[in-house]
Order: sequence, then structure tokens, then C-alpha cells
Amino acid sequence: MTNPTVNNLDTRLQHTGLASFDPDTGAAPVALPSMRTSTIRFRDLDALDKALANRAKGERAIVYGRGGMDTHGALEQVFCDLEGAQRAFLASSGLAAITLALLATLKTGDHVIVADCAYGPVRIMDQSLLSRLGIQVTYCRARVEDLASQVQENTRMLYVESPGSLLFEMLDIPALAAFSKQHNLLLATDNTWGSGYVYRPLDLGADISVVAGTKYVAGHSDLMLGAVMVNDEELITRMHQTHYAMGYSISADDAWLALRGVRTLPIRMKQSAENALQVCQFLATRQEVARIYHPAWPDDEGYALWQRDCTGSNGMLAAELTLSSVAARRFVNALQLFSIGFSWGGFESLVQLVDHKTLQPHGYWQGGDNAVVRLHIGLESPADLIADITQALEACGE
Ligand SMILES: *Cc1c(COP(=O)(O)O)cnc(C)c1O
Repeated sequence: MTNPTVNNLDTRLQHTGLASFDPDTGAAPVALPSMRTSTIRFRDLDALDKALANRAKGERAIVYGRGGMDTHGALEQVFCDLEGAQRAFLASSGLAAITLALLATLKTGDHVIVADCAYGPVRIMDQSLLSRLGIQVTYCRARVEDLASQVQENTRMLYVESPGSLLFEMLDIPALAAFSKQHNLLLATDNTWGSGYVYRPLDLGADISVVAGTKYVAGHSDLMLGAVMVNDEELITRMHQTHYAMGYSISADDAWLALRGVRTLPIRMKQSAENALQVCQFLATRQEVARIYHPAWPDDEGYALWQRDCTGSNGMLAAELTLSSVAARRFVNALQLFSIGFSWGGFESLVQLVDHKTLQPHGYWQGGDNAVVRLHIGLESPADLIADITQALEACGE
């Protein structure tokens, strides 16, 4: 954005990607239309040559339908604004964005260290894809003291997620960035939790930030979206080439919905965060709750890091329960306002009974056999949500 008066992200999120004026009428719709197209037409061959030359230089160029037109461009700019990035590359889901980040940077024979708290499907991608390509993965608690012994001659990347999936383990990104630099590793991080709005890993020293736009950016549980953000010229070239080679593309309608969603990201995220803190306060009074996992909760182990590195929080939390596994199932089934389901970042509250198989690899987990529920606190009245949790705890019979 060229307007020098727009310094604040909240303002940028309202002004990025407005439709431009028609040269004849001087009028424009406020919202950019969804530019659905499979191909682009050019006024003359000079215009086409210019677009092709720009693309060859690695710049964003409107050449063909896969890369989209202004709707896609505006959404890319939104991700750049959010993350403080030079370039953003769109993908059809958060997982596709993770795949893009890894395939653009790793080759056969390389080794990558993955944080043991990373999004579970990364392990499936490793088993089904990376291993077949001869890319070696080891999982490790993402603290500098644990990582030092894991670095090999062929280690090329440290891939982390902060706060981690399921238990929201806060990582020390600046320390991990210094460690990565020292060992000549790329630091890639999944920033879906912060979505660029409350946490900016590129500013903290990460090389690559990946966001599942499916969650808070889109914000309405109605589309799948991912993005990879980078600043370094060489990484931009690699992402650009791999993105092209893999045929990554998203629909203009999904880009449009995400643009519409992101206008209200500031108020949605703040409200979900505020509601989540109220739910934490309530949970802390219940004897069934052994521990609350939410970085913005003062008793959370990551609270100091959260205070230092984040400007806000969101609606995600996990509660470790002293209930038997049978009672925990009854508790989840008894909830009325929380839908049972994966994902998060939409308007609605969700609950997931966390499977211990997915929890065990997390070095951060010290809760033994205790049950864990992950909650996404949405935009309902927190009083109603608390009443719902109360009745479900009473109904579960322990
Ligand atoms: C949901 C999620 C993803 C994957 O996003 P999809 O759009 O569902 O593929 C990646 N990372 C994190 C942390 C997530 O929560």
C-alpha cells in the first residue's frame, strides 16, 4: 500500500484490495468483485510480453487463470500485511501451504527437524510423501536445549509451530531463529494460531511463515485456504517456482470470501480471545479441571513468552480433565452449544476430545491418562457457553 498515513494493521485490513475507479464513470464498488476466470486476455502482444517478462523475473504477474487476477492479488497483499512479508503464495488449504513450504525448500537427502507439537497431519505427509522423496524427518521438542543434539550435517530446516497444536505450547521463536542461523537452517513456522494478527514470526526472525487461512483469516467456517509468506529473495524465487510447478490454485470465490472475512478479523479475534479468558476463569474454579492450556492465561507455562511476543490471543484452549475417559466422552456428548468437530477460527464454538495417540508424541504433555478436550470459543455469549459447560460437567456423572 502506498498511502503513507496507513500505519496501523487494522486500517490496512480495511483498505487493502478496494476496487479501483472506472476511468470513464469515476465510480467503483467498495468491495472488489470475485474475478472468476480460467484465462486472461491481453490488449496486444506487448502487454502479454510484459506480463510474461514480469513472471519470469519472479514478480506477481497476471498471465493465466491459475494465478488469478485482482481478487487473488488483494488476498496475497492481505497476507503480506498480516505477516510483514514481501510475498505471499496462496494454497488450497493450510496443509497444502505446509507442503508447498517444504517441497520448495527441501530435496532428496535433506533432513528436517519438526517440532513434536506440530499439526498432526504433517506426520502423515512425512510418511506418505517426504519419506518417499528421501527427505528425512526427526521430531523433537522445539527448545534450543533439546534441539542441539538433533542437528546433522544434512539438516536444512527447523519446522515448528507456535503455539503448538492441541496444547498451545509457546515456543521461543527469537531463540529458535538464532539457533537456526547458527546452524545454517531455515526456520519455518506454522502461524495459524496468530494468523499474522496477534503474532508475527517473520519479525521475530523466522524465514517462512505458513498460515491456514481456513481458520481465523476466513473466519466463517465456509472455505479452505492456506498461504506461505517469505521475505528473502532466494526463498521468494523458490516458492514462486514450486508454486507454479505444482499447479497451486485457489478459486476466486474463495479468495473473495476470505477477503470479506478478513475485514472483521480484528474484532472477531479480540472477542473470541476475551470470551476464551472468561471460560478459562470459570474452568479454573472447577475441580474436574486439572490444568488449562491457553498462552494468554496467567497460569500457562508459556504466559511470559506470550506476553513478550504476541499482541493478543484467540479463542483456542485445552482443558485437562480428571474425568475417566468414559465420563469425558459423556461430557463432550452433553455439550449443547459446542459442536463436535475439528478446525477452529470461525464464529462458532467447537469441541474436540483429544485422542491420546495424537497427544503422546508431545514432550509438553505431562498429564498421563487424564482426558483432554480442546475448545474453540466462538462469538456466542460467554455466559451461555459457561452455563453449557456447567450442565455438561453435571451431566457426565463424576
Ligand atoms: C487447521 C490447521 C492446519 C491445516 O489447515 P487446513 O486448511 O485445514 O488444511 C495447519 N496448521 C494448523 C496449526 C491448523 O490448525
